[in-house]
Amino acid sequence: MKTTEPVIKHPKIKNPIETLANTRHEFGEHGGVNMSIEASTTFTAMHPDILSDMFTGEKGPDNGGCYLYGRHFNPTVYNLGRQMAALAGTEAAYCAASGMGAIAGVILGICNERDEVVASNAIYGGSFALLHDFLPAKCGISTCFVDITDTDAVASVITDRTRLIFTESVANPTLRLADIPRLAAIARDAAIPLVVDNTFAPLLLRPAELGADIVVHSMTKFISGASDVIAGAVCGTESFIGQLMDLHTGPLMLLGPTMDPNVAAAISLRLAHLPLRMRAHSERALAIAERLEDLGLEVCYPGLPGHPDHARFTELHCPEYGFGGVLTLDCGDEQTANTLMSCLQNELRFGYMAVSLGYFDTLMSCSGSSTSSEMSEEDKAEAGISPGLVRMSVGYTGTLEQRWGQLLRALDRAGLDARNAAA
Ligand code: PLP
Repeated sequence: MKTTEPVIKHPKIKNPIETLANTRHEFGEHGGVNMSIEASTTFTAMHPDILSDMFTGEKGPDNGGCYLYGRHFNPTVYNLGRQMAALAGTEAAYCAASGMGAIAGVILGICNERDEVVASNAIYGGSFALLHDFLPAKCGISTCFVDITDTDAVASVITDRTRLIFTESVANPTLRLADIPRLAAIARDAAIPLVVDNTFAPLLLRPAELGADIVVHSMTKFISGASDVIAGAVCGTESFIGQLMDLHTGPLMLLGPTMDPNVAAAISLRLAHLPLRMRAHSERALAIAERLEDLGLEVCYPGLPGHPDHARFTELHCPEYGFGGVLTLDCGDEQTANTLMSCLQNELRFGYMAVSLGYFDTLMSCSGSSTSSEMSEEDKAEAGISPGLVRMSVGYTGTLEQRWGQLLRALDRAGLDARNAAA
């Protein structure tokens, strides 16, 4: 498969923060500064024709301000969708009950039985299991996993059955960066969409601007920021979002991964400070990564010049939001990793031994035995997930010096201090 030069799809996209500022201001029912939460599951039609027009698609939220039923569009969720479209730089967006609901909805919205997906071999374990185990068994949709950083390999595995390319912008947990402009060019040549999961990098990477056709998010992570809600979003064209909500074939409508309007309202209130939070995560993560590197430890962070994708990241990201809030530390073996995390959580209150990311406090997990445990040992080795790899979503609570002091003590306890690293 030949690949043409990448083109940046929306070179003049407005700063999403400006677009969002103009989008989010929707008054509440009584003139409240926040939008009202529409708690109704069903909506009155003032005339019988309107009801039937909604079933034929002639009327809808943007076509007469008509709503049908809460599993279809809900006004509060729809408004959060508009805000997500503004953030992602896409024409439209809609939200789902989880990131997995959003990802599954996109794949099932595009693929039919016997279709194929080309996917990165380094992705969140749940997405891996969906593509590797669930979809082939339940739907006859197969996936070819490939090293997404090897774009020639990606182009070479596309067949006439391939319906989409799926990758994470920044891979969980290897933190490798997908070359989105080049992947978009490959997808364009094959006339298939590039789907990018941007969960690790909201604001700092803008996949749609770089050429992605569809952007998905687990909003459970940085976008929500408090580890208290599970949520997801699909951002794309109006027609694609409409396709996902189609009454006959739309997976978001028919499989029912419906976002609760209370969750939509809660997330909407947090989008305004997402830029501040992303900056705070990135600043703290960079400082810790640099200090760990100075100790001679096996730290991986895209902001370090030694990261294999540092140069491309520097070229593609929005510098005001840094290199993201996640780093990894290879402790050599699982036992050392567990000693480190236990000490950090139970003795020093540095953070929590828990999966997930994007919380205001630090979350740590050993990826190989947790969020990537769905992968076989060979698949993990192939993707670069070693048994002692600790993924750290760096929080911004406390002070840097306080956290660094705690980390130094725990490194010493785990036998990972500077003397050992240098040996
Ligand atoms: N995408 C990525 C990169 C993730 O890390 C996760 C969860 O950890 C998901 C998607 C799934 O999100 P959710 O838990 O909201 O379904």
